[in-house]
Order: sequence, then C-alpha cells, then structure tokens
Amino acid sequence: MLVVGGGPVGLLTAFRLRQCGLPCTVVEQHAWAHNRSRASTFQPAVLDRLAGLGLTAPLLSAGVKVDRVRSWDLPTGSHQDLDYAVIGGDTLHPFRLHLEQAALRRLLLQRLAAPGGPPVALLEHHRVEVLESNGACEGVRLRLRPATGGDRTVRLAGRWLVVADGARSSLRQQLGLAFDGVDLPEPVLRLTLPALPEVIAQQLAGVTYLKAGARSLSVLRMPEGWRLILRPLIHECQRALTDDSWAREVLSELFASLVEPAWWQDTPLHMDHYRVAQRCVPERQVGAALVLGDAAHVTNTRGGLNMNFGLLEGLALAEALASGVSAGTTTQALARWALHWQARTIDALLPRTSELLAGGTPLDGITPATGTQAPGAALDRQQRRLKLRRASLLDLVELP
Ligand SMILES: Cc1cc2nc3c(=O)[nH]c(=O)nc-3n(C[C@H](O)[C@H](O)[C@H](O)COP(=O)(O)OP(=O)(O)OC[C@H]3O[C@@H](n4cnc5c(N)ncnc54)[C@H](O)[C@@H]3O)c2cc1C
Repeated sequence: MLVVGGGPVGLLTAFRLRQCGLPCTVVEQHAWAHNRSRASTFQPAVLDRLAGLGLTAPLLSAGVKVDRVRSWDLPTGSHQDLDYAVIGGDTLHPFRLHLEQAALRRLLLQRLAAPGGPPVALLEHHRVEVLESNGACEGVRLRLRPATGGDRTVRLAGRWLVVADGARSSLRQQLGLAFDGVDLPEPVLRLTLPALPEVIAQQLAGVTYLKAGARSLSVLRMPEGWRLILRPLIHECQRALTDDSWAREVLSELFASLVEPAWWQDTPLHMDHYRVAQRCVPERQVGAALVLGDAAHVTNTRGGLNMNFGLLEGLALAEALASGVSAGTTTQALARWALHWQARTIDALLPRTSELLAGGTPLDGITPATGTQAPGAALDRQQRRLKLRRASLLDLVELP
C-alpha cells in the first residue's frame, strides 16, 4: 500500500492500515517536522473515532474543550447560545476540541515509529513526481525525487495508492481528475492574541460569532490565547493585507463601547491570511488510486469541517481495504468506499460549509431557548440537537 502525503489525513490512514494489519509506505515531500496545515478544530465525531484507536486522550490534555457556541449581536448586546449538552446522548465527547492539528500529526508520527505491528516506511524529503497507472485496478508505480538527490530518482510500486497530497495535489492532475468549484474573492485574516480585555473575554464562549451590521468576526479560544477570524469586504482587501493596522482599526471600532481604542494599538497581535475555496473532484477512484482529504475536497474553513471529514474518510478507507483483503473482495470494498464518501461530500460536506459562507453560523435558524417547562421546549431541544449533530458530523458515523 502506498500513501502519498504526510498531512493529517495520509498519516491517520497509514496508522489505521497498520492497526488493521496492513503494511504501507508513506511518502512526504517535506521534513516530518515541517507543518503547513492549519486546522484547529476537532469535531465530536472525530474525537469519538480517534478515542477507539487510543488517540483522543493525549489530544484532550493539550487542547481546549469548547462546550458552547455563541452568537453575539454587538449593537444590541444580545447573546444566543447553543450548548453541546444537547448532543450528550449522541457522543462520548459533547464538545469540540481546539488544538492545532500539528498535535495530531506529531502523535501519529510517534505511534507510527513505535515498534509492533506490520512495518510502516516513513519516507520524508521525497516528492512524488510521476504516477504510472494503467487506469485499471492493477497497481501503480511512482517515480520520486529526493529533496537532496540531484537527478537521482527513486521508484516505488504498490497494489493500491492512497492519494492524500493536499489541495494542490499534483497526483489528482495526473489522474485526469477535475477540481471544480469556486474560489472566494475575499481573503480571510487570522489574528492570534495572547489575551483579550476582561470586559470582552467574559462575554465570549469557546466559539463566538460576533455580528455588527455587515461586519462579522469569529472568536475562538485556543490553548495559547485567542484566535480571531476576520473577513474584509472586497474593497478593503488591499489595505487589510498590507499590514495589521487595518485589523487593529476594525477591532477598535467594533468594540468602541467596551474598550479604549488605544488598547488595540498596543496589544501584541500576530496576523496571517489565507484564501478559501469550495471545490471537489468528480470521483474518488481512478484504477488503483483512491483520492481523499484536501486532494479530493476543499471548503470554507468556517465551522471547521474539512480536515475532520478527511480524517473520517481516511479511517473508513483503511477499514474498507482491511475488510476487503481479508474477505478477498478488495475491489468491491474500495468501490463502495469511493461511492459512499463522494456522495457524503456532495450531500453533506459541501452544502454544510456553503451555508456558512456568507457570515452564516451553526446557530442560524434555531429558535431562541425557552424554559424547559415552556410549551415547545422539547421541540426546540430536538431542533438544536439535530443542528449540532450535523455541525459535528455525528450523523456520518455510527454511535460509539
Ligand atoms: C487557516 C485554515 C484553518 C483551517 N481550520 C480547519 C479546522 O478548524 N477544522 C478542519 O476540519 N479543517 C480546517 N482546515 C482545513 C484543513 O487544514 C485541511 O482540510 C487539512 O489540512 C487537510 O489535510 P490533508 O492531509 O488532506 O492535506 P495537507 O495537510 O495539505 O497534507 C498534504 C501533504 O502532502 C504533501 N505533498 C503534496 N504533494 C506531494 C508530492 N507530490 N509528494 C509527496 N508529498 C506531497 C504535502 O507536503 C503535505 O504534507 C483549515 C484550513 C486552513 C487553511
């Protein structure tokens, strides 16, 4: 089994393959210590699945458990909350975990390097340049270029290929797969602050969606402080990306009634930015190659779903391979995997993330909470539960 891409999805797939008794080789173009993926939210469905594999406990001790989502209308000062207690009967982890995904990657690398189980070869500093596949399910050959090797070429062959080489996948292109969808015109600014003024912090939940007219801001509590996600409007982009002065100005205007503007000028703040797209491949299998993770789909980052979805499909792929190998029905098991996860991409992942595009939040459309005795309270609770199950991807996995 060959896995291309040592991101969270490729490594988790390799980890599960090994647990299921299947050896594999993982190829990564960068050093293992290098990490560019920036996901920060682990959803309950993924925490449940990882717990069964002995991976959740170390993550829990490093991250922040978030058991409430809040929307905060700044001009009126009103709050609306969605409490994870409503999904207490659906999951062992009724909260989302805020933690850099690099923590999962480090943990997987540690476990994969530990003795025991079938061998896993971890090949860093090797870029896969050419994929040779005859389009039928008869195996693949890869040509790799070592980062330090000049013109030297390494060749690998395998029965099946897991393509997890990220959003800019070159293998996807070589397989002839389109990546249709849209790129959003506005970039997203990501600000990290060690602390916020107490008068603001005490009004925040672990995740808070703030609104003030056309402006929206998401605030996430992270282990190292606060992360603020700000989306400039199209005419503001040039200034917003030049330096952090635009972001500081917007924050001082937003919170003018609570904090002196000077606070935002002096506070330490780290800013970076990224672009968002909604894209997916038309199919997940080309001959012996199976495509997943960001190589198969990218989405709006609001709601924190894309990596989580990739992790679930990686686990399912390893399990489909293992059950197919033991029953002698690998081809059928993989075809079922490909159809199932492509259908879930189209009917769950993409629509859910699209709903969050234009400033939407998981709280949209829920009735404000009424007292537990009030008429309709049970209905409200059920509506909230279903909403949060969807936002947590719990409807895509079996109850633990
Ligand atoms: C700012 C930001 C915030 C996000 N927040 C969240 C969130 O909170 N929750 C969430 O679920 N998702 C989130 N996402 C999405 C998430 O980061 C991705 O879905 C996730 O990283 C995808 O993992 P992956 O393993 O598929 O791909 P990647 O992490 O991109 O890994 C692909 C790997 O393949 C390697 N590679 C590429 N080409 C080759 C080659 N030819 N040969 C060898 N190796 C190769 C790359 O070096 C890389 O290591 C966020 C994304 C961004 C940008």
